[in-house]
Amino acid sequence: MSVTQQSLSQQAIDLENKYGAHNYHPLPVVLNRGEGVYVWDVEGKKYYDFLSAYSAVNQGHCHPAIVDAMMKQAKTLSLTSRAFHNDILGKYEKYASEYFNFDKILPMNTGAEAVETALKICRRWAYEVKGIDENEAEIIVCENNFHGRTTTIISFSNDAVARKNFGPYTDGFIKIEYDNLEALQTTLENNPNVAGFLVEPIQGEAGVFVPSEGYLKKAKALCEKHNVLFIADEVQTGIARTGRLLATCGDCTCEKKDCSGTPEVKPDILILGKAMSGGAYPVSAVLANDSIMNVITPGSHGSTFGGNPIAAAVAMAALNVVKDESLAENAYILGELFRSKMNEYIATSSICKLVRGKGLLNAIVINDTEESDTAWNICLKLRDNGLLAKPTHGNIIRFAPPLVMTEAELLDCVSIICTTLKEFEI
Ligand SMILES: *Cc1c(COP(=O)(O)O)cnc(C)c1O
Repeated sequence: MSVTQQSLSQQAIDLENKYGAHNYHPLPVVLNRGEGVYVWDVEGKKYYDFLSAYSAVNQGHCHPAIVDAMMKQAKTLSLTSRAFHNDILGKYEKYASEYFNFDKILPMNTGAEAVETALKICRRWAYEVKGIDENEAEIIVCENNFHGRTTTIISFSNDAVARKNFGPYTDGFIKIEYDNLEALQTTLENNPNVAGFLVEPIQGEAGVFVPSEGYLKKAKALCEKHNVLFIADEVQTGIARTGRLLATCGDCTCEKKDCSGTPEVKPDILILGKAMSGGAYPVSAVLANDSIMNVITPGSHGSTFGGNPIAAAVAMAALNVVKDESLAENAYILGELFRSKMNEYIATSSICKLVRGKGLLNAIVINDTEESDTAWNICLKLRDNGLLAKPTHGNIIRFAPPLVMTEAELLDCVSIICTTLKEFEI
């Protein structure tokens, strides 16, 4: 790296540091181009993207079909607000509802907004359908959850950094251990005012924790028994990431890997975001059937940009790519390959303890403490070796490349990762 080249990156980093709030701690790399599974830095160095913007770019960077749809709509009509109808929102709502097999969709923009929307729908349903006394509804959530950054959402987080000095917090949530059916059962039995159970099918930010086989299915059955809504936050796990269209298909017994929206564990409320747009635009959504969604009435909820024409066009194109290019099937096959290759390496490794995940949502656990900076240092070396990833904790690195990857590219990445890990072997 020459002196001038180095200063290009440094200039961009300095600008962010001086004029931007310090709410992130990015890996020191400055990108200015992306295509498919690759991104390039301002010095022209090429990298494999192994984060995919936290699984927003499942369809790959700047997918031509998505970019085309976006440009076409941007030149025609970008925003009407929901004060007026437009000619594309209904088409998108029909497309997405049928795609995920629900009666209705409520379009929003960010993941956190969609989670908030789901919580509001659940509370209304509690009072107007289930018959819980007003202001008494409780929603069960899991320890170590990540559902976004709003005041209400951090109220039921147990991440000290995300919560500190942001109180007072919102009431009405009960936290139980993840992947613990007994805790769920006891809580349901002891609390008649429970209206919903909000859960990530795999806990992504916590470090890619995959629950035990059958957990989701049994949790759903318990919810049904107690007339409680099962709310799946698939913002990160959805849209083919885990080798199925939705991760709530995880317990699915059907042979077809791309099971096109007919999950075995069907949530009452489904929350989507991130890859809804393939990373081109902020698009999120809540899906439910009429008996639940119809508690939302004019004026009770809204968003200026929610379901805007560009978002509608982009989301239809992005969802079409997922089917068209069999991304769920590809994620399934490459995920199996990735974990088997990593396990071969781990068998003789002292620095890497294990690999876990589903499809192309995986993590490796480094043989060090959560407070250590080993995972960070490994990510810096991975960057030097041409692959970008980020730790979720001091000792956990998430690996989530775009799903448009080929087998040859994946094997190349495995080789970069193993070569890098070797430099850290004790
Ligand atoms: C990213 C994420 C969110 C929040 O999405 P934003 O678009 O950042 O608001 C919510 N839930 C899960 C599981 C996520 O991974």
